Amino acid sequence: MNVRWGEHPWEEIRDYARDGALAVAPFGSTEQHGPMLPLDTDIHIAERVALSGARRAWEDFRIPVLVLPVMPVGLASHHMRFAGTLCLQPETYIAMASEVLACVVEHGFRKIAVISGHGGNVPGLQLAIKKTVHQFRDDFPLRIALFQGHQDAEMRKMRRDIWDGQPSEGQPAIHASRSETSETLADRPHLVRRDRMVRPTLEVESIPEWSWQTHELSETGAFGDPSLANAELGEKLWESWAQPVALFLKRLWEAPIGPEQ
Ligand SMILES: [Zn+2]
Repeated sequence: MNVRWGEHPWEEIRDYARDGALAVAPFGSTEQHGPMLPLDTDIHIAERVALSGARRAWEDFRIPVLVLPVMPVGLASHHMRFAGTLCLQPETYIAMASEVLACVVEHGFRKIAVISGHGGNVPGLQLAIKKTVHQFRDDFPLRIALFQGHQDAEMRKMRRDIWDGQPSEGQPAIHASRSETSETLADRPHLVRRDRMVRPTLEVESIPEWSWQTHELSETGAFGDPSLANAELGEKLWESWAQPVALFLKRLWEAPIGPEQ
């Protein structure tokens, strides 16, 4: 099946909803990714992760899945000192995400998977999911689940083998570090500024407990050690997404929804 929501005419979306298909809502961010990576890194990650998981869920488990267009703007105010970053205020973001989810529900979908390409979106998405489930609670139950990304148990299992034997980056690698640089080298190498793949000097040894702005910690906006990135590692990282996401979709597919269904 063609898993891209936007490539279907409306009658097919209506029929997929009637037949109980899953919807996947990917959320990205347009934000600085250091001097070496493009601003759309998290948009591309959200889309590729969602599409690969959806296709795998269809191929392996015959679960019909439709992936919405990626939301390109997220919660990225901490990157605003770096040119090109776009962001919404938290209130706006929660409203935006919950309204998009509500549209999907109104079209008849009862199970929705939410996937974020950017960790900063997560608190807003959790609240948007709660808001949407609450909004429809007197009409019918919904099952809306947020993929846990690097915290997902299957994901951690797959990644353990990949990281085994890789040298340490020597500092917190929370953003625009070796992994995102490797992924971009693997599938969009023309967008990587190789001469700018440099290890930043961080202002702190660990990520502070207080709420920080990126420029307070990293002068270049990067973290970890992007100079260790390579396309071969990136390929492995990309391949490691599809299976955990497909299994996440399968769990959602199998989740009981109550007597109203
Ligand atoms: Zn990113």
